[in-house]
Amino acid sequence: MVVHPHDLYIMVGPPNSGKGTQAHLIADELGFVHLSSGKAFRDAVESGTQLGCMARSYLEAGELAPDPLAIDLILDRLRELAVGGDTTILDGFPRSLQQAEELDRRLVEMGLRIRAVVSIEVSENELLRRAADRGRADDRPEVVSRRLGVYWDITSPLIDFYRQRGQLIQINGEQPVDAVTRDILAAVGARIR
Ligand code: AMP
Repeated sequence: MVVHPHDLYIMVGPPNSGKGTQAHLIADELGFVHLSSGKAFRDAVESGTQLGCMARSYLEAGELAPDPLAIDLILDRLRELAVGGDTTILDGFPRSLQQAEELDRRLVEMGLRIRAVVSIEVSENELLRRAADRGRADDRPEVVSRRLGVYWDITSPLIDFYRQRGQLIQINGEQPVDAVTRDILAAVGARIR
């Protein structure tokens, strides 16, 4: 697999699809940097930065933080990584068409191009079953169902957006973790060591 220093990988998937786990595993396997927007937001909230204070109520309610906050937080970090020559897997950003369009506008100046968008696909029933097994603060049943609703309404249109551009890779997320990882690596053209 030939990775160019300016390649960018994007991971999309509903909450509890395992996209964070997969982004982490793929980054490890291929020597990429894993940039998780959810973690960046949770860190900002915990450390009490101004951006974190503004985002807090949205995270607690299972809503998306406003686009300008997400764009500031994630694209600044992505630029730093690009300058450092790292190949990044973006996990959880973009999460709306506005974010995707802003990312597109800034790609050129960051010297990046989208190599692939990996969509992890899991049925709604399986997502609810998985949520019941987890214990994160925003995993209360009403918040879980809100986060899922937000995903279908605001984030899932990204799937068509990237499919139309021929950048989408669809992965069956209802398999054991290692099978999902293997499918992603095969689809992005990597050989497993
Ligand atoms: P996650 O861990 O990816 O499920 O993200 C946790 C929470 O962080 C989400 O429910 C949102 O409140 C916030 N968040 C993460 N990524 C974004 C984003 N790209 N745009 C807006 N809010 C986000």
